[in-house]
Amino acid sequence: MEALSSSFGTQLKAKESEKKKVAIIGGGLSGLACAKYLVDAGHEPTVYEARDVLGGKVSAWQDEDGDWIETGLHIFFGAYPNMMNLFAELGIHDRLQWKIHQMIFAMQELPGEFTTFDFIPGIPAPFNFGLAILMNQKMLTLGEKIQTAPPLIPMLIEGQPFIDAQDELSVTDFMRKYGMPERINEEVFIAMAKALDFIDPDKLSMTVVLTAMNRFLNEDNGLQMAFLDGNQPDRLCAPMKDHIEAKGGKVVMNSPIKEIVTNDDGSVSHLLLRSGEKVEADEYVSAMPVDIMKRMTPKKWQNMPYFRQFDELEGIPVINLHMWFDRKLKAVDHLCFSRSPLLSVYADMSVTCKEYYDPEKSMLELVFAPCSPLAGGNVNWIGKTDEEIIDATMGELARLFPTEIAADETWPATMKQKEGKAKLIKYAVVKVPRSVYAAIPGRNKYRPSQRAPIPNFTMAGDWTSQKYLGSMEGAVFGGKLAAEVVSKKAKGMQLPMEKVIQQNIVDSAASYEAK
Ligand code: FAD
Repeated sequence: MEALSSSFGTQLKAKESEKKKVAIIGGGLSGLACAKYLVDAGHEPTVYEARDVLGGKVSAWQDEDGDWIETGLHIFFGAYPNMMNLFAELGIHDRLQWKIHQMIFAMQELPGEFTTFDFIPGIPAPFNFGLAILMNQKMLTLGEKIQTAPPLIPMLIEGQPFIDAQDELSVTDFMRKYGMPERINEEVFIAMAKALDFIDPDKLSMTVVLTAMNRFLNEDNGLQMAFLDGNQPDRLCAPMKDHIEAKGGKVVMNSPIKEIVTNDDGSVSHLLLRSGEKVEADEYVSAMPVDIMKRMTPKKWQNMPYFRQFDELEGIPVINLHMWFDRKLKAVDHLCFSRSPLLSVYADMSVTCKEYYDPEKSMLELVFAPCSPLAGGNVNWIGKTDEEIIDATMGELARLFPTEIAADETWPATMKQKEGKAKLIKYAVVKVPRSVYAAIPGRNKYRPSQRAPIPNFTMAGDWTSQKYLGSMEGAVFGGKLAAEVVSKKAKGMQLPMEKVIQQNIVDSAASYEAK
C-alpha cells in the first residue's frame, strides 16, 4: 500500500506533457482520495461535490446549538493500511484516538453487563485473536469454540480464492454447511454482520465476514479501533482539500453534476452541472454511490455489460442516531456492540471523541440496523418517524443501561423524566436510505473494476472492486486505484486488467433497451 502511495510521486509522476485535467464527480472520501493521489502524481484534478459539505457518508453538520450531527458513527481499524497511509501523508495521524485493543459486547441475557475479547500485547496475529476468544468465558463454551475454528482455517491457508468462493452463501448458509453451532450466530455473527454491513447474517454474504476476518487477523493490531478526534469534514476532509488545493487541484462544493454528456464514439465530451455550466477535462472519474451512478449512466453506455453490472448492486438503508442525556451515563471509552435486535454498534461520544467531550452529559451515537426487510427483520424502519425510531431505541437503551435509563411510554415526544433516571434532552436522527452497497450473497462478482471500457472515464467509490468492503478504507483505496488508472493512462503504461464480467450480464446487456 505504501508502495502504491509513493509511486504517485515516482513511477507514476507525470511529465509536463503528460499532465491531465481531471474532473471528479463526488467529494466523499473516494473522490477526495482520488484527487489527492492525482495531485501527488502532478495532475490537475477538480472535485465537484453536489452538497455544501464534503465527505458524503462521513459528512457532518452543526445544529442550532453548535452540536455536530454525523451521517454515521465511524470507526477506524488498524487493518486500514490505505487510510493509515493517508493520515501519515497528510501529517494528521495524531488525530486518531486509538482505544485499548479490545472488543466489547453487551450481554444479551444480562442487562447492563458487558463482556470483552481482550487482545494481549506482544502476541502476534492471528494467535492474539484466537487467545482473545479462548479467554472469554461468557460468550461461547469451549466446545462451541472448538467447532467454530475448522471451517475458518481454509480462509487463513487458501486466502482470497476461498473467500471469494463463499460469496454465494449467506453467513447462515455457511454456518449450516460447515456445521457451526447455531449459538455462534447469536453470540457473534449477528453483531458482526450488523456492524459490517447494517444487515442480518441470513442476508449477508459470507465473503464479507471472511474478508473482514482475513484483513483483521493478518495484522497484530488489525482489530484495534480508533475514533477521529472530531467531526470528519473538519478533521479529515479539510486536510485532504487543503492538500489537493496546495498542489494545484480544486475542490468545489454546491456543484451537482446533472449529466455525463458523451461524444458519438461514446467517450465523455463534458459534464453538465445542474447550474447549466459545462465542465471539460481530459479525464473524468465518477466517485458517486452506485444508486446515483446507475441513474447517471449515459444512454450510449447503457447496453454495455460493464455498466449493466451496476443493476446487481444497490445501497442498503441505515439510520444514525444521536441522543443527548442530562447526565453522564456509565459508558466506556470505546465502541460497544449492542447485540440488540434494533441496534448495531454505539459509543458515548462525550467520552470517546475529543471534540465532543463533555464532563457533565452523555451523547450516545448509535447505528440503528437493520432498517428494512432487505437488510433483515420485517419492519421498514427507514420509513418510520424520528419519534418512533427514538421510542424503540429507548427500549433498547433501558436494557443496556438498566439502572440509568427507563423505557417509558411517554418517551420521547414529551421527553418526561422518570424519577431518578436519566433524561433524554435532545436527539437527532439521520436516515441514509441508500448507504454502502448491500453485500447480499452473490454481489461481489458484480463490483466493477476502476478501469472502465470508456477511454476517458474511470470509476471510484467504496463499491468498486477492491479487497476491502464498502468502508472508509474501501473508499480511499478505490479512489487511489482510480488515480492509478488515470496516471498510468497518462504515461502510456500498461493498465490494470479489467475485471471479467459475468456471462449472464453479457447476455442481458445485448438485449437491453437503452432509455
Ligand atoms: P460517498 O461517501 O457516498 O460519497 C459520494 C459523494 O458523491 C457524496 O459526497 C455525494 O454528495 C456526491 N455526489 C453524488 N451525486 C453527485 C452528483 N451528481 N454530483 C456531484 N456530487 C455527487 N466505514 C468504515 O470504515 N467504518 C465505519 O465505522 C463506518 N460506519 C458507517 C456508519 C454509517 C451510518 C454509514 C452510512 C457508513 C459507515 N461506513 C463506515 C461506510 C463509509 O462511510 C463509506 O464506505 C464511505 O464513506 C463511502 O465513501 P465514498 O466516497 O465511496 O462514497
